[in-house]
Amino acid sequence: MLYTGGTIGMVKDDHTQSLKPFNFEHLLSQIPEIGQMDCEISTDSLDHPIDSSNMKPEHWLRLAKRIYTDYAHFDAFVILHGSDTMAYTSSALSFLLENLGKPVILTGSQLPIGISRSDARENLLTSLEIAIAKNEQGQAMVPEVAVYFEYDLFRGNRIHKISTEDFEAFQSLNYPKLAEAGVHIKYHKSVINPHPSKPIKLNQNLCNEVAVLTTFPGMSQAYVEAVLNISNLRGLVLRSFGSGNAPTDAWFLEALRNKIEAGLVVVNISQCDGGGVIQGKYEASKGLLEMGVLSGQDISFEAGLTKLMYLLGENLSPSELKKAYETNLRGELTQK
Ligand code: ASP
Repeated sequence: MLYTGGTIGMVKDDHTQSLKPFNFEHLLSQIPEIGQMDCEISTDSLDHPIDSSNMKPEHWLRLAKRIYTDYAHFDAFVILHGSDTMAYTSSALSFLLENLGKPVILTGSQLPIGISRSDARENLLTSLEIAIAKNEQGQAMVPEVAVYFEYDLFRGNRIHKISTEDFEAFQSLNYPKLAEAGVHIKYHKSVINPHPSKPIKLNQNLCNEVAVLTTFPGMSQAYVEAVLNISNLRGLVLRSFGSGNAPTDAWFLEALRNKIEAGLVVVNISQCDGGGVIQGKYEASKGLLEMGVLSGQDISFEAGLTKLMYLLGENLSPSELKKAYETNLRGELTQK
């Protein structure tokens, strides 16, 4: 069990009254039931637990490396993490850990553990239950990166944080839940990734030279150009409208086309959480298709961004990158 920070272990600062990360021992001492679980648990923590707003690709790489290094010694891994950027971390880990055959379950909470109505205890204990669950063949029940929150288990690269208020902080509109916890934990086995046939592989390169261009009615040429002219930019997520549509102003399409011709990889991901991009469905996305914008299909923003960072780090040719981006690699998109 790896503790990175987040609300789950936070306490109120006496002076400012703001929630700030606290140490792991404090958290563990609040849940003595952990000691009664039918498994041996090793725990470790970041030296300085963080609010997940401070998560960086370096942290994802460290977590992935840690899991890879300890892979043979443990049956499963549980990561305690703030909910704000949990979807990014769970997506990134799914790409960094190739051929994963053991559970990596991320969880956190909306209220700190020390508060009586906190969701932390249930989230943590059920995550541990799920992590150690085995199927009839004695193999891990959930051999993939998943997120457990408020009675639901989701695929890690399919979620999006939807609420700062509800205990149901996450939703996965484009992929079913992997499991639901009631009196019993019901696993939806047909939608859980199969066990890999190859050994685990650690991918260690993530490209940071990426940016996001969110379309909005009235966006100015100055705004678009400021983003497109970022120096050393290699990848761009175009957060488009609806099923992948964007304004058809000539200046916009030309600016994008020039950058693509100069080598920029542009991927189209919808601002909608459900459904996905179908370039060419409307005239307003035809130009994007023709100039070589890649389609994120029904990928989430978090998975689409981290997949781009991962693939740009892999030194692929433009055609290999296009093929890999538009292919389902870890269950992150629904291949048509
Ligand atoms: N700000 C917190 C974090 O993401 C929120 C949470 O943990 O839910 O670290």
